[in-house]
Amino acid sequence: CPLGSSSLMWFRKGLRIHDNPALEYAAKNSCFVYPVFVIDPHYMEPDPNAFSPGSARAGLNRIQFLLESLLDLDANLREIGSRLLVLKGEPVEVLIRCLKQWNVKRLCFEYDTDPYYQDLDRRVKKYTSMAGVEVFSPVSHTLFNPEDIIQKNGGKPPLTYQSFLKLAGQPSWVSSPVSTGISRLPPVGNVGDAKISNVPTIEELGYKDHGQDEFSPFKGGESEALKRLKNSLDNKEWVANFEKPKGNPSAYLKPATTVLSPYLKFGCLSSRYFYQCLQEVYKNVKQHTSPPVSLLGQLLWRDFFYTVAFGTPKFDQMRGNKICKQIPWKDDSELLAAWRDGRTGYPWIDAIMVQLHKWGWMHHLARHCVACFLTRGDLFVHWERGRDVFERLLVDSDWAINNGNWLWLSCSSFFYEYNRIYSPTSFGKKFDPRGDFIRHFLPALKDMPKEYIYEPWTAPQSIQIKARCIIGKDYPKPVVLHDSASKECKRRLAEAYALNKRLNGSVGEEDLTKLR
Ligand code: FAD
Repeated sequence: CPLGSSSLMWFRKGLRIHDNPALEYAAKNSCFVYPVFVIDPHYMEPDPNAFSPGSARAGLNRIQFLLESLLDLDANLREIGSRLLVLKGEPVEVLIRCLKQWNVKRLCFEYDTDPYYQDLDRRVKKYTSMAGVEVFSPVSHTLFNPEDIIQKNGGKPPLTYQSFLKLAGQPSWVSSPVSTGISRLPPVGNVGDAKISNVPTIEELGYKDHGQDEFSPFKGGESEALKRLKNSLDNKEWVANFEKPKGNPSAYLKPATTVLSPYLKFGCLSSRYFYQCLQEVYKNVKQHTSPPVSLLGQLLWRDFFYTVAFGTPKFDQMRGNKICKQIPWKDDSELLAAWRDGRTGYPWIDAIMVQLHKWGWMHHLARHCVACFLTRGDLFVHWERGRDVFERLLVDSDWAINNGNWLWLSCSSFFYEYNRIYSPTSFGKKFDPRGDFIRHFLPALKDMPKEYIYEPWTAPQSIQIKARCIIGKDYPKPVVLHDSASKECKRRLAEAYALNKRLNGSVGEEDLTKLR
């Protein structure tokens, strides 16, 4: 095989064979293709100081989901004559070593807008441009290229969904269907003495006695993603009538939405393929809902947040972020820990947080409730602290979407109706009057009569004894009183909004301190 005709396919997200233009390009005109995934120990290995099992950056559920996705990718690659080469170490160092050792002159990987990958890519490209290695890095994680939209808008990201839709129009690839797979890949070349391993198990990564008793019911991988997509889309009526936010956030046996988010996050499912399949369903029904509430509309929200996040410096923080209201949030570690660990004394809030720990996934409205409670609804704790907890524990944890939604829910950006607060007692009751969701995730309350399940501190002592749940002992008392706490939050928000208006974007730390 002549020199230079090998390609290295660097998998990061995009863990799939279907609609994978980087992989297709690698396969073209190459004698050998090296499909590589680099395990970054920082992302994968146990952090004994973390507040729950997992690494410094990811909870155990997401690590498990990623390992399952890699196993599935390896199996799918083997079916087309290849395999996944798993290596371990600092990704850029490992990659450069492989390119040199295997004398590869073409590097292919999916373009990524996350700051973490932007940084990796800059470092890798420094080497490839010096070494004369061709780089092919197409946009296929999102429907649109965020850069194109920002350019169309005169260099600034659109800040409303409607203006985003207007600028975006139809995706450019829509006229030619995306690929549904590759039938054959060139073989893997000689790997020399590179340290290649199989996909490790969770135990091999060092998680021996992790103490997690319930894992996410959603198994990782492209095969599972395509099955899940098919199951969702087979129900054409459900797809045609999909209307968010109308679903039931407490439905956990059969969630009210697709639960495709973890698969989209890791790229086990292509958002473009999802879009294309949705269009097929819409063609075959009499009428269907439209963005922003439709299922297609949800995918467009994803692209909206990707675009704003990419075009906004310091998008993931309050200070220095031009689209973020400056608010004198509290940094109260006790209240934060009570929220994070499901100990606020509000069963609806605590059950959702336990679902986050156990499953790494919650319904969108459930996320609304707990994010509102932590920030502008009750505890007035900084949204960045809540964002960190979600970022680590969600299986679908996504830099752009997570930060975007925390900005939204805390009324820091996009949405400003701070008087509209989710009640931590009556909101859940509308959907689940018997409290089955709470009983499942908070077994301490499983025998509490339904009259008290959302406000167990109001149950008479005799009822608490009968339910074997003494409030203050078996389940906590409320950390704040919702009525007074939410009034105080609204007052503080009003004050902060007035300050932001008066100082017109130049609110400093001293101004915030005066409000604290
Ligand atoms: P469906 O309703 O079936 O929607 C299909 C897809 O559309 C989703 O998989 C997702 O990719 C996209 N989508 C849906 N809602 C949104 C939204 N509001 N914004 C952007 N894209 C959306 N979603 C993540 O994928 N990762 C996150 O880290 C994340 N963090 C969030 C944090 C907060 C505070 C809140 C309120 C929401 C967050 N979301 C996040 C958005 C949303 O809750 C999830 O995408 C959704 O619940 C996933 O379930 P699903 O796949 O069944 O959604």
